[in-house]
Amino acid sequence: MCNFASVKLHIIQPMKIYKFGGASVKSAEGVRNLERIVSQANDNLVVVISAMGKMTNALELVVNSFFNHKPDLSDNIKAVVNFHDSIISDLFPDENARKVVNASVEKLYADLNAIVSNKPSLSYDFEYDRIVSFGELLSTTIVAAYLRHRAINAEWVDIRRCLITDNNYREGNVSMEISENLCREAFLGKKLSITQGFIAGTPTNQTTTLGREGSDYTAAILANLLDAEDVTIWKDVPGVMNADPKLYKEVEIIPVLSYKEAIELSYCGASVIHPKTVKPLQNKQIPLYVRSFINPSEPGSKICRYNQHLTLPPIFIHKKNQVLLSLTPRDFSFIAEERLSKIFGILASYRIKSSLVEMSAISFSLCMDYNEVTFNKMIEELRDEYEVLYNTDVELITIRHYTPEIAQRITANHLIYVEQRNRLTARFVVPV
Ligand code: ASP
Ligand code: MG
Repeated sequence: MCNFASVKLHIIQPMKIYKFGGASVKSAEGVRNLERIVSQANDNLVVVISAMGKMTNALELVVNSFFNHKPDLSDNIKAVVNFHDSIISDLFPDENARKVVNASVEKLYADLNAIVSNKPSLSYDFEYDRIVSFGELLSTTIVAAYLRHRAINAEWVDIRRCLITDNNYREGNVSMEISENLCREAFLGKKLSITQGFIAGTPTNQTTTLGREGSDYTAAILANLLDAEDVTIWKDVPGVMNADPKLYKEVEIIPVLSYKEAIELSYCGASVIHPKTVKPLQNKQIPLYVRSFINPSEPGSKICRYNQHLTLPPIFIHKKNQVLLSLTPRDFSFIAEERLSKIFGILASYRIKSSLVEMSAISFSLCMDYNEVTFNKMIEELRDEYEVLYNTDVELITIRHYTPEIAQRITANHLIYVEQRNRLTARFVVPV
């Protein structure tokens, strides 16, 4: 028998997710601007924030000096501390207010110092996650304190206790099953929560991260788990543009894009959203807005389900810092399925993602992000079986919705190493 009196009534309150990246909180003025944007929202809000400015890069230097026992460790920590302290002094000129935030921030500095005063473990990736995560812990602590100082009731949530991954450090795989209830308990029904992008935790409370630039992905996963109404990513650009304004004279904002278009664009290297962001949103049909934190009244771009044909302008994406690798089996055997699966296995073990693949009978070419150290290790392994040739300093140009004339114009003065075209997309690997 069902006892209605014991059934808890859950009123579903609309909930939105806002995500602010490092560029939006790189200064005290950025934090004040965030406060203006957040204070205008009427719905319940989860605000996901990245590390301030370039603090993740600065913390990577800390990890490197710690792990490799270098003497610049304390200077590198000082740089992180000074950066945050100067934002705090600007935000809280009043000494009493500053004392409150300093108490929490000093605790984080002490935790970081405690980690680096011990010997590193043998796992670089484990150390990386527990150190680099301080960027997001510090940024959210400062922002939450500032909002409270401005009489906005914001709750700081440590996402490592509710967004749960495996222990694949530096690229944790989120368990949606374990995280769902924990996240719902942590965020639902609350007016305003401030939490960290990019970082997460294992079931045994170790800190993990989701891969560089992963805060967009955090926002998307939370939206999925909380059944949010929509997600807004606040950026320093007015929306999704058809080209980088630094490279092209005439650019335009694309007001509406389908999930499919957005995932293709980000996969090709459009840096406007992280490629993993689209899936959790598409799976629950949650719209994603990309808007400017500089002009918050502008509508920006909307990414959503769109079945009809959308006429889109040509979209140009330049993926820089690529390397083009060509492999030829030393014994002159075909590049057959078994070989391919071995090659991809090696790529995966180095966490290398290929951005373009081309093959012929006995040669296999791949374009991928270039990281000198990892790349050199990988080709050493491949050299056992393959003759290896490569070009660094190449870029991958993608033109979505191209016309032959446009493709011709863009590549006119370039030597082209590889060219691929299908009905919608033309791609060129060219030297820079
Ligand atoms: N702070 C992290 C990074 O810079 C995550 C992010 O910004 O999305 O990679
Ligand atoms: Mg960042």
